[in-house]
Amino acid sequence: MRETLVLNASFEPLSTVSLRRAVVLVMQDKAVVEQSHPGLRVRAASIELPVPQVIRLCRYVRVPFRQRAPWSRRGVLVRDRHRCAYCGRRATTVDHIVPRSRGGGDTWLNTVAACATDNHRKADRTPAQAGMGLLTKPFEPTPADSLLLALGLKDGETLPEWLTVRGAGASSGPAAPEALPA
Ligand SMILES: [Zn+2]
Repeated sequence: MRETLVLNASFEPLSTVSLRRAVVLVMQDKAVVEQSHPGLRVRAASIELPVPQVIRLCRYVRVPFRQRAPWSRRGVLVRDRHRCAYCGRRATTVDHIVPRSRGGGDTWLNTVAACATDNHRKADRTPAQAGMGLLTKPFEPTPADSLLLALGLKDGETLPEWLTVRGAGASSGPAAPEALPA
């Protein structure tokens, strides 16, 4: 399920929460819905509201500075637009360029999207050992890219303009969920 993006009262993106958590924050008047999924409704207690895609906190929350997007498998697939780094076909798996068994880590620069066939073929080897070239170079997502990840947008979808203007240029990345009001 898609998560809901949480904006600070100042419109800076803070974090993502589950839909359930987002609905609770709205029902408790701690947040307002800034954008909702068209046509989708969620029922909570006795009320019904649009499924929130973006909510904004009513009170400003001070958050510790964090610049880098946390690594995740899903994030790698979205960053690489589900294209295999070795053949360009649809990728459903994440390959460690330097295999974990050889000390390669779960980092943005050491992982690429890969189709199951190529991931299996490459196995426990580096691209050079396997004789497989990379079509694209892995990179660390920018704060704007992390927003796309957080929103769970698909290929071709773009950030709403108001969010790009107000949020994506900010230097702070997503905040830890514990910074949010309980
Ligand atoms: Zn492939």
